[in-house]
Amino acid sequence: MSDDGEDSSVPESLEVESAIAPPLINCPNCDGLLPLGLGEKTCALCGAVSRIEHEATRKEWSEERVACPSCSKVLVCGVGDRPATVECSSCTNQFTINSKVVKVEISCPACERRLRLKPRPGSREISCPACEESFKVTF
Ligand SMILES: [Zn+2]
Ligand SMILES: [Zn+2]
Ligand SMILES: [Zn+2]
Repeated sequence: MSDDGEDSSVPESLEVESAIAPPLINCPNCDGLLPLGLGEKTCALCGAVSRIEHEATRKEWSEERVACPSCSKVLVCGVGDRPATVECSSCTNQFTINSKVVKVEISCPACERRLRLKPRPGSREISCPACEESFKVTF
């Protein structure tokens, strides 16, 4: 009797978050915030396409040390891009190193409390958790 009736052999996707954030770049056309990352990016506000290159970030990405989420061995990533898929030299599992999620600090115009937000291109209205004042932020 064969015993291969298990279909749960699909490996879960293993992911880790990179510790190195790419720089925040503004659109040369409209000065809005461009989507995070390197390579070709389309401005969410004006549609202009920019090519973002940042040697220092590529180098740091490629030299970044990450712990394998499966066996905890520390590896040098070796890939100057995010997300990056790498194979662990110890347990041969593949895993993905995602971009770091960057947050920026702003202060509430009413109570000056510092708030941390994920920068997203464009304007949006947020309300301060401390004083409930609503205000608009633009990146
Ligand atoms: Zn733009
Ligand atoms: Zn491993
Ligand atoms: Zn406030």
